[in-house]
Amino acid sequence: MLATVLRSSRFPVYSKPIVTLFHPICRRFYHLSAVYTPLTPQMDAADASEETLRGVLAEKQASVDAQAGVVRKLKAEAAAKADIEAAVESLKALKIEVSAVAKRLQAVVSSSGGGSGDREAFRQVVVNTLERRLFYIPSFKIYRGVAGLYDYGPPGCAVKSNVLSLWRQHFVLEENMLEVDCPCVTPEIVLKASGHVDKFTDLMVKDEKTGSCYRADHLLKDFCKEKLEKDSTLPSVKVAELKHILAVLDDLSTEELGAKLKEYGITAPDTKNPLSDPYPFNLMFQTSIGPSGLSPGYMRPETAQGIFVNFKDLYYYNGYRLPFAAAQIGQAFRNEISPRQGLLRVREFTLAEIEHFVDPEDKSHPKFVDVADLEFLMFPRELQLSGESAKLINLGEAVRKGTINNETLGYFIGRVYLFLTRLGIDKERLRFRQHLPNEMAHYAADCWDAEIECSYGWIECVGIADRSAYDLRAHTDKSGVSLVAHETYPEPREVEKLVITPSKKELGLAFKGNQKMVVEALEALNQAEALEVKAALESKGEIEFGVCTLGKSVIIKKNMVSISMEKKKEHQRVFTPSVIEPSFGIGRIIYCLFEHSFYTRPSKSDDEQLNVFRFPPLVAPIKCTVFPLIKSQQFDEVAKIIARSLRSNGISHIIDITGTSIGKRYARTDEIGVPFAITVDSTSSVTIRERDSKEQIRVSIDEVASVVKEVADGQSTWADIMWRFPTHSASHVDD
Ligand code: AMP
Repeated sequence: MLATVLRSSRFPVYSKPIVTLFHPICRRFYHLSAVYTPLTPQMDAADASEETLRGVLAEKQASVDAQAGVVRKLKAEAAAKADIEAAVESLKALKIEVSAVAKRLQAVVSSSGGGSGDREAFRQVVVNTLERRLFYIPSFKIYRGVAGLYDYGPPGCAVKSNVLSLWRQHFVLEENMLEVDCPCVTPEIVLKASGHVDKFTDLMVKDEKTGSCYRADHLLKDFCKEKLEKDSTLPSVKVAELKHILAVLDDLSTEELGAKLKEYGITAPDTKNPLSDPYPFNLMFQTSIGPSGLSPGYMRPETAQGIFVNFKDLYYYNGYRLPFAAAQIGQAFRNEISPRQGLLRVREFTLAEIEHFVDPEDKSHPKFVDVADLEFLMFPRELQLSGESAKLINLGEAVRKGTINNETLGYFIGRVYLFLTRLGIDKERLRFRQHLPNEMAHYAADCWDAEIECSYGWIECVGIADRSAYDLRAHTDKSGVSLVAHETYPEPREVEKLVITPSKKELGLAFKGNQKMVVEALEALNQAEALEVKAALESKGEIEFGVCTLGKSVIIKKNMVSISMEKKKEHQRVFTPSVIEPSFGIGRIIYCLFEHSFYTRPSKSDDEQLNVFRFPPLVAPIKCTVFPLIKSQQFDEVAKIIARSLRSNGISHIIDITGTSIGKRYARTDEIGVPFAITVDSTSSVTIRERDSKEQIRVSIDEVASVVKEVADGQSTWADIMWRFPTHSASHVDD
């Protein structure tokens, strides 16, 4: 598009500022440039970089400014009308060029593969279809709804239930996982131990006049993105500054974020009123358990904690064997400050989580070989930091080279890839992005997100993290119940163990009320520290010893503690297992699937675009339709017999005997993604039409239900059964 506009321009285009000279004798205008650099084909090319385009734009804008100056001057000098008109024409042409380059730049900045306008228009069509066909509905709509809460309508419920049953089959069944179902209401102590009570916060700002709340980082992010997309005159230093902010957004402290909002003069988006300073807002919905109000609780923000607190029983159930995994599907609640992006950021959503418990000293996985040959888009840290894009990488190699921390983590990354692509997610718009060190919790060994590209950009849909032993240790400390595993040695092993025996009597005499704190500090010494204390006591008889809980040092004498290394026989090793956690946001996956499955095709008469969801049969909300070709009692009877047979085979279906044109009936069900349509056009055999190819085969009435079941359950593909049955060439055609 840009190329067309530029080449059709009546004026030469230069990339350096143009100086327009007024020649006093011939009274004509010449565009001069210090160095003539026409806009080259590289700059027109679809892959013109953002930097190139910004450079071209800045130069063109300068030309516009210079030419505007010329026009003003001519007008001020009351120059001849023809000369003024020629200068104005020249200015208009330059402005067209500026706007063409600006558009191209905006497209490049907003995404790869299409401008934000295109993406929004596409999204609008998808969302309109989804809402019109009741895939989902804003909750409590007759009361104007509540932001961030959605209902799934009939086809949405069916898709969700199919996604969850595939999840159970692909993960729970495949790995013999132990599935649990824990309450959503959770006592405070559990979420205090996990860190959610203190740290599960986002920074919020308030409109100082209306009290409306916004997520501070979202306002700053939107500001930077909009500037980069829309302000084509930004100097390169400013571009770099805004990009840097986007890169470190998650790392900004409360004060830094507040300072940036002030520096850029960011105000409340709806009213333009000033904003408060940012402050942390805890995202959990608080409640109290029971009528007394004395037992605080929260609606769980994730399902994982229910599994951790049950570790001891699950370990027992699994015959005290590691590794094993537990799984849970359930609702999670997060009081998002400003929910947006439809199903992608909501206040109640379904999570499907796996906690795979493994020996920290052996994170190999026996089934890793099954996925090692997979190759898909990965976005490791190094590529992100060097400004490159995600690359196709072999999974086995990524683990071998240490890009992915261990085999078990790699195994789950591979299984998640297989699951998502089996659902119908486009593998070219799916990438696995490694967390940068600053994004990861300090205890995590490695984290990757499965990100899916949709009209909102790349969206984190599954988090896959090696959380080491953090969660089990936290609950051990808080509950006092030891959440550990044992490895029994085949033969007892002789080990040297540190034994610290504080003399409570001597310490009591010396430190009275502080005795307990000193004892605890001595017992908490690690081996190196203890040996240092021992050496000092042996050489000097006493040591100055810092006790954190007292906030001061005390003098420890030789008679107050005995420290020795003793040989002991050990029958087992006791350790806290590591946890590898794949965590699936089901609503996000489903929304991306909707976008990836959606397409339009022209109607037969070419006067309208028909919507289609190309769901794989396993995911499709309804597997087939039954349509009598024409209104006839005989055909209606056959349709009812087939419907009964489908019901007894457990195949969801719609029977439509309205007699509307067959094409219209196909179009209505294509729009909710029904993959197969049975058309009754005789009393002995029927046709089956496949949604995307529109191919039809002829099958006997007795066989039709079992054939549909075979393809709907995924035992055979449409291509497989096409061979077995005659094709129906005089097709019942689409509208
Ligand atoms: P997290 O525990 O924050 O890593 O979230 C786990 C998964 O839940 C993410 O990968 C998302 O897919 C999903 N998720 C998180 N927050 C929301 C939300 N507000 N709405 C919908 N899905 C969410």
